[in-house]
Amino acid sequence: MKRLTALLFIFYSIITLGQKREMAESFSIHNFDKAIAIGKEILKSEPEDFETNLTIARAEDEKGNFNAAKPFLEKSKTLMKEDWQKSWALLENAKNNFGLGNLEVAKQYYKDACKITGTKNSTKSLKSFGMLTGLDEFYNEWKIKETKNIVFHFQNGVNDEEIIRIMLTRQKAFDEINSFFKSQLPKKIDFFVWNMTNSFNPVLNRNLGFSTPVFSVSHNRLDQTPGHEIAHNISFWKSIAGRKTHFINEGIAVCFDQKKSDKLKAASEEYQKNPIDLKEIWKNDSKIDDEMLYPISGAFVEYLIKYDKEKFLELTVNQSYEDASVIYKGKIDVLISNFILKLKP
Ligand SMILES: [Zn+2]
Repeated sequence: MKRLTALLFIFYSIITLGQKREMAESFSIHNFDKAIAIGKEILKSEPEDFETNLTIARAEDEKGNFNAAKPFLEKSKTLMKEDWQKSWALLENAKNNFGLGNLEVAKQYYKDACKITGTKNSTKSLKSFGMLTGLDEFYNEWKIKETKNIVFHFQNGVNDEEIIRIMLTRQKAFDEINSFFKSQLPKKIDFFVWNMTNSFNPVLNRNLGFSTPVFSVSHNRLDQTPGHEIAHNISFWKSIAGRKTHFINEGIAVCFDQKKSDKLKAASEEYQKNPIDLKEIWKNDSKIDDEMLYPISGAFVEYLIKYDKEKFLELTVNQSYEDASVIYKGKIDVLISNFILKLKP
């Protein structure tokens, strides 16, 4: 009997080991729902497993499901013993609280995490989170200004006139864009304005502007459109449950950039230079140059909104071509063809 129990124990350990590997793999390819489902299975036999509790919390946070992550974060805190565990758990608590808008709590977790000697990866993640969100001491001298929906962070050197212009235009953009989407953001948008007009930002080692909507964060150059990055944040929070695609996401950001420009004309000029296969790009989320993608996806979104606003709001939540086939009741190919006709001379 003893031997049988021992054998069963080994048997179950091997199964859980395989499940843990699968959970980690699912997380790494951003299949967060699967990582959560496997994690919850593992917890049935190993409720005190640190890594599983933390992975579920991380996956929920990545989705923007901050409240669902809470119980697993609490459990992780009671289970963390080694420094590497503390560094990951404290960082995740900082992320979770930042995402919910609990800034002071997030700051404290961030500071505590900085005091721990973590692994190479956790230290790197902590630094990049601090640089993304403004928690890093790099931002100590930046000017902070607030409006109803946005916390602005201005780098030194941005003059007062620019500060006023940016604050007014971005808050106005927020109001106009959200009168369409009616999203509920969990916090104000942290809107960083770098004193530069070049795309490449050597400090962040990436191009500006960009947004990380799950944390309602946006990093910007001085010379961007008022609405592009704001639209990314607002449309993300229409619903966190759906599927996103690069094609529709960028289309939304261009369509709502608040520039008084003729979107269809810009798309038509681009299409005549590069007649892209819209359906193929949308379907396969193919990578093409932003200069080609932006005008065409922007005009396409504008066209779909004019066709049917309610259906487009559904597409904002689930953005794949297959989703569109369902939402537009089999008519999406006709809509695409009619739109392409408008781009031809
Ligand atoms: Zn964009």
